[in-house]
Amino acid sequence: MEKELAFFDKIRTVTPYTPGEQPKNQNVIKLNTNENPYPPSPKVQKVLEAFEAGVLRKYPDPLCTELIDALSKEYGVSKDRIFVGVGSDDVLAMSFLTFFNSKKPIVFPDITYSFYDVWADVFRIPYEMIPLKDDFTINTEAFVNTDCGGVVIPNPNAPTGVILETSAIEEIIKAHQDSVVIIDEAYVDFGGRSVLPLIDKYENLLVVQTFSKSRSLAGSRIGFAFGSEKLIKYLSDVKFSFNSYTMDSITQKIGAAALSDKEYFTETTKKIVKTREYFKKEVSKLGFTFPDSMSNFVFIHHDQYNAKDLFAALKENNIFVRYFDKPRINDYLRVTIGTKEDMDKILAFLSEYTK
Ligand code: PMP
Repeated sequence: MEKELAFFDKIRTVTPYTPGEQPKNQNVIKLNTNENPYPPSPKVQKVLEAFEAGVLRKYPDPLCTELIDALSKEYGVSKDRIFVGVGSDDVLAMSFLTFFNSKKPIVFPDITYSFYDVWADVFRIPYEMIPLKDDFTINTEAFVNTDCGGVVIPNPNAPTGVILETSAIEEIIKAHQDSVVIIDEAYVDFGGRSVLPLIDKYENLLVVQTFSKSRSLAGSRIGFAFGSEKLIKYLSDVKFSFNSYTMDSITQKIGAAALSDKEYFTETTKKIVKTREYFKKEVSKLGFTFPDSMSNFVFIHHDQYNAKDLFAALKENNIFVRYFDKPRINDYLRVTIGTKEDMDKILAFLSEYTK
């Protein structure tokens, strides 16, 4: 342990988020961070090839005009209701800082994206976790009836992949019109339904999405949010009080190019959904169970095999999945959906392991 410093009491200390491992060895089957197994659209490659380094002499456009225009066109939302950030992690962090400034605790599920409590801690936001039901579904009633300073719910939830119906989300938004409700839709393109249309009805709703999963751009770091003009204005004010130039010039162009290729987006997300359904069917034949996932990962459990041991055995064989050593989920593994070939390899391993 590091020796405590004389000025320790003046330091903002926090236990950081632990991201999934990015192994140096390229010869692994990487199913641990919910990345897309397919490359980004060929239009992204073209942007990179045509990009002139001279552009980097100047600061990037702080308003990300080209990207916001592309998002506005693609999603049919006016530009003043769109915010972009360096990955949805950035969008969410800025949103926590902007919207959760009350003494009342914010609420989120007990089993969820493990960055939420880290942001709450670092920004000194009080929070409470509302337990998921035993089947890992969100307890809508508990979310409706809580007295809180804000709400965050991922839909589909992570690491479970379970979706919450639009009607239930609307009930929660309606019940908390005096606070901001953030719906984190990082995985919505794999079969969920976005609550984006509800931003016309509720000023307190912020819908957050990302290019990291369904648009194969985790490495570029592009996230975005839709909300009422007022919410977006407050969010932008906080962002511009930190750093005006967060998204670089190349990334802004790459994002716009990816959005322009709807065909590729539809084709690759469809392939992932098809592979996910195949994986669900095959893995259940081996005795694994899982909550029904509508995302690009499946949260598997086996009554006879310890998840931590299986995680280690998989890793030993160069197959990386994600294990969370946390109450209620420490006997599950989150397996990202890769290519059909990737899934056949992990299935072959699991079949041997469970023989
Ligand atoms: N929300 C959820 C639920 C996630 O799982 C992730 C991915 N780790 C993110 C947000 C952040 O993704 P990104 O910053 O790559 O957009």
